[in-house]
Amino acid sequence: MLRRGSAGSNTAADHIALVDAAIGALPPGFRRRLMITVDGAGASHDLIARLDKLAARPGYQVIYSAGWMLGEREKAALRLVPEQAWQIAIDGRGEVRERRADDACADSRCAHRACWIEEAHVTELTGLLREGPDGDRLRGWPAAMRIFVRRERPHPGAQLTLFEAEGGWRYSLWVTNRPAATKGWLGQNAYIDAAHRVQARVEDAIRTGKDTGLGHFPSFDYQVNGAWLTASMTGQILLAWLKLLALDGDLARAEPKTLRRVLHAAARLVRGGRRRRLKIQASWPWAEAITAAWQRIDALPQAP
Ligand SMILES: [Zn+2]
Repeated sequence: MLRRGSAGSNTAADHIALVDAAIGALPPGFRRRLMITVDGAGASHDLIARLDKLAARPGYQVIYSAGWMLGEREKAALRLVPEQAWQIAIDGRGEVRERRADDACADSRCAHRACWIEEAHVTELTGLLREGPDGDRLRGWPAAMRIFVRRERPHPGAQLTLFEAEGGWRYSLWVTNRPAATKGWLGQNAYIDAAHRVQARVEDAIRTGKDTGLGHFPSFDYQVNGAWLTASMTGQILLAWLKLLALDGDLARAEPKTLRRVLHAAARLVRGGRRRRLKIQASWPWAEAITAAWQRIDALPQAP
């Protein structure tokens, strides 16, 4: 959504319009079960209320996960979390995020606790904030809203706040309406954490979007930049579908810069025998990937 340079990053009305537009862009059959992730700028009363309203419609399931600021209230709660309440976090593949300690023993598959450093932990802060000695400190927020936190060992040399330096952890917080009664692995803290981290893919798309033109608007004219944004987003969407439907391996995860090698392949369109053939030089490094991609696209059913 193109906005004036003077627009604020926390304008809830814009967030709500954007969420509505994003849902409207989905085929109707895919609008009933949604997971909506938002970064920290989205944790406003108005947006959360809107998401709650969407979730309350009969026949719809909407789970949201929105970044949350680490304020004094949250810091106070964090200091009260007992060590055993922290659960180890998993990565997107369901694997535990840990690494060998610098002074680990020689057996790289040992079971010594001191030889492994757990990279990240997750816990829920809802109880401490809602039912602490000071009463409900999340008063005014929907009762269904729960608050979670992940702590990670910061990268060496990372700038830490005083609070982070205290315990040697960096914290990220988020809120979700996923019900506490959710059964099975979907309700476990490690899953709730992994589910929130899909937001990182959005951040990636914004970062790599700069390579498809989001990074430099060409004009002082709002309308011209609007057209530019549309073209740039169209490029991003086409790349996303290309990766999803036609590419695999490294190319399916590649960033726009790398995909250029596929898109800018030299080829010749040859007509003959009432057919058109695209001839790619066999020695071109991605010739096989391009051919396979074409065959996959060709095999897709026609859109209705
Ligand atoms: Zn060991």
